[in-house]
Amino acid sequence: MLLLTKVVKLNLLDSRRKFLKLFGGTALVGLSPVQLACTPNYNKDALNKPLVIATWNNYKANEAAWEVLQNGGSALDAVEAGARIPEADPNDQSVGYGGLPDREGNVSLDACIMDHLGNAGSVCYLKNIKHPISVARKVMEETPHVILAGDGALAFALEQGFEKENLLSDQAKEKWLDWLKEKNYRPEGNRDQHDTIGILAIDQKGNLAGACTTSGMAYKMQGRVGDSPIIGAGMFVDNEVGAAAATGVGEKVLTTLGSFLVVELMRQGKSPQEACEEAVSRIHRKLKSEENIQVGYVALDKNGRFGAHSIQKGFEYTLFKPETKTKFAASFIQ
Ligand code: ASP
Repeated sequence: MLLLTKVVKLNLLDSRRKFLKLFGGTALVGLSPVQLACTPNYNKDALNKPLVIATWNNYKANEAAWEVLQNGGSALDAVEAGARIPEADPNDQSVGYGGLPDREGNVSLDACIMDHLGNAGSVCYLKNIKHPISVARKVMEETPHVILAGDGALAFALEQGFEKENLLSDQAKEKWLDWLKEKNYRPEGNRDQHDTIGILAIDQKGNLAGACTTSGMAYKMQGRVGDSPIIGAGMFVDNEVGAAAATGVGEKVLTTLGSFLVVELMRQGKSPQEACEEAVSRIHRKLKSEENIQVGYVALDKNGRFGAHSIQKGFEYTLFKPETKTKFAASFIQ
């Protein structure tokens, strides 16, 4: 076994040496042949820069992000500013304050954020804090960890100066009380149930960042965590290649590690649109006939090209780039 490992290592070293020789060594030191073979050549000057793309009709979120980008701010500041808009909006029943609760009436929030250096922060099952995205950013910047959950996340948020508040709005409470009459859980994830925001940006320097924040599936089981706070599932950024974010039934995104998949497909040469289509179809191919669910992705590459795709009709995304500020219907399978 030991011998075999050694032989494999030597072979790898040998091919690496040959590769470096072939392509003129010094400039390529630090990159493995595999990385180079798979990472497309992106233009230094992105075609659309700056740019922000968000899931659903999150126009106001894009406006907030756009202001940061236009003033020369970072993609990271932009996506945080954008995500905070639906978090504070009582009429958005899928995110932050006003979000629909779990079946016990708790509003529990999931969020994550990632920067161009590959740093990430996340909170899950966080209660009573209106801006989980900003707590996620603090996790990224102030702790040695990536994810904080539940009571620990709350204790950390309070320590960081966030205020504890009731997030169950009267409107959401009324809907929940109504739901209790039948207690019928329908994880479908389309527009009428969901506005979870996944927001991706490229700034004037060409750096990428992403954020994702949600109150999760309405009337989920207590303690349920979805895809949104999981780096690589609900959102992923690789500054060499691109970024992606997901919305819809989180269990399907989690089990395919969807956003990571979209970025890796782009790394292999697919456009953002093709990558979203392939990631959606990986889920769609395995759906049982009785499953009537929605999953949608948005993606952005290093050149400022973008794409979006979903299983069902009804998924929209909001795009701001120089000269275009609008909402589009995404393509879909069925
Ligand atoms: N993906 C989120 C979750 O499963 C919900 C959504 O996007 O609507 O928690």
